[in-house]
Amino acid sequence: MFKSFLDPLSGVHVPHRKNTAHLEAVRMPPPGSVVIPTVMHIGAPAKPIVKAGDKVAVGQLIAESGGFVSAPVHASVSGTVKKVEDIVLSNGRQAPAIYIESDGEMRPYEGIHKPEISSLADLAEAVRDSGIVGLGGAGFPTSVKLAIKDISKVEYFVINGAECEPYITSDTRTMLDYSKMLERGVRRIVELTKPKAVYLGIEKNKPKAIKKLKQIFRDDPTIVVKGLPPMYPQGGEKVLIYNTTGRIVPEGKLPLDVGVVIMNVTTLANIEQYLETGMPLVEKLITVDGSAVKEPKNIFAPIGTRLSDVFEFCGGFKEEPKKILYGGPMMGTAVPDLSVPVLKNTNAVLAFAEKDAEVPKETPCIRCGNCVNHCPMRLNPPAIAKAFNNKDAEGLYKQRVNLCMECGACSFICPAHQPIVQRHKLAKILVRDWQNAQKGGKA
Ligand code: SF4
Ligand code: SF4
Repeated sequence: MFKSFLDPLSGVHVPHRKNTAHLEAVRMPPPGSVVIPTVMHIGAPAKPIVKAGDKVAVGQLIAESGGFVSAPVHASVSGTVKKVEDIVLSNGRQAPAIYIESDGEMRPYEGIHKPEISSLADLAEAVRDSGIVGLGGAGFPTSVKLAIKDISKVEYFVINGAECEPYITSDTRTMLDYSKMLERGVRRIVELTKPKAVYLGIEKNKPKAIKKLKQIFRDDPTIVVKGLPPMYPQGGEKVLIYNTTGRIVPEGKLPLDVGVVIMNVTTLANIEQYLETGMPLVEKLITVDGSAVKEPKNIFAPIGTRLSDVFEFCGGFKEEPKKILYGGPMMGTAVPDLSVPVLKNTNAVLAFAEKDAEVPKETPCIRCGNCVNHCPMRLNPPAIAKAFNNKDAEGLYKQRVNLCMECGACSFICPAHQPIVQRHKLAKILVRDWQNAQKGGKA
C-alpha cells in the first residue's frame, strides 16, 4: 500500500571525497571559552540552572531537560560561567546559551557516576540523563526512541553506519577506532530489546569498517553487517530501513510502527561510553575538511567550541573561506560566521574556497524529470513547485511534500539548478499552517 512512496533504488551518485577517512581523530586542547546553546536537539530547549559567576566542571549539569522531547546540557569544559544569554542558531531557533570561560584544566565533575542498568526503562532513563541526541545529524533525543512500552514490537534493530554525505568520515572513524565500544553497545541493546535480527548498514565505500565489524560479529548470525551500494541518500532513515529490513515506514509513522529501532553508530558508541564511564555527552568527534582548510582532520572538540577555534586547530585557512557548513554539502546548513559553536549533532564542519562556494545560476525548469526519477520518496518537485507558486497548500499536501526528507538529491541532479529543497522547506510551512487552520488553530 505504501510502496509507491519509497523508491530505494533511486538517489544519486555523489563524489565521495572522504579525504579524512584514514585519519584517526585527535583531541583538540580546551579552547579559551565555549558557548553552549540549550537547544541542540529537536524539541523543547533545556532550562539553564547556572548563572554568571558559577564554577563548573566537565560533565556537570548546566541546563535541565525542558520536556519529554528535550535533552539536558552539561558543561564541556571546567571554568566559570560568564553569562547566560539568548543566541540565534543557524536554523533560526533562538534560545539561551551558556557562556563558560575555561580554566584550561578540564576538571571532571565529582558527581559523575555510572548508571545502573537492568532494564530497557533504566537504559532510556540513563540515555536521557546523558544528554545524548541523534549524533548522525538529526539531533532527535535518543531517550525518546528507547521509551518503548512493549519490546515484543521490536523486530529489527538497524544501526546506521552508511555515512553517505561527501567529506564526512566521523562515523567511519567511530567504526574503526571504537569498534569494541560499538560492539558492547550493540550487544547491550540486543540483550534489552531482543530483536529477531540486527542490521548494521554501511556503504561499500568503507571496506575497512565492513571487514572489521564483520570480523567482530562473525559468531552471531543474528547480527548482520550489510555492505550497501554507495548511493546517496543511503543513510536516510527510511531508505536504510528499507534497504536492510525491507520494511517501509509509512507517512506520519515512526520506525517502531513497523517493528524497527534505528540508531546511528556514533550515537550507539556514545551511549555505551556513558554507561561505562558516567561522563555525559560533552565532546563531539567531527570531520573538519573543505577546500579552504589547511589541515583537514578528524577531531574531538568540546561541545560549544567556536568554529574559529576548530579551524585554528586545523592550521587555519589556505585561502579565505567563502562558504562554511555545519554537516555535509548535501544536507548541511551554512553558518553566518566563525563564532557559532560545535553542537551535539555536528558531525562535520566544512569550509570552502571561492571556486567551490559558487551558487550556480537558476534557470527555468526544462521538465526533464531527473528530480522525479532520482527522488527516493517518489515526489514530484515540478508539481510541488506549481502548487507552491499558487500558494496552494492543499495541493502541496496532496503532493505529499511532507514526505520530503530534504536530502537534496533532486537539487544535485537538476540541470536548471532549481532551489528545490529550499522550496520544499517553505512548502512544508504552508502545509503546516493550512493544517492548523483546518483544525481551527492559529495559522
Ligand atoms: S529533497 Fe525531497 S524531493 Fe528532493 S530527492 Fe530528497 S526527498 Fe526527494
Ligand atoms: S530536474 Fe530540474 S529541470 Fe528537471 S524537471 Fe526537475 S526541476 Fe525541472
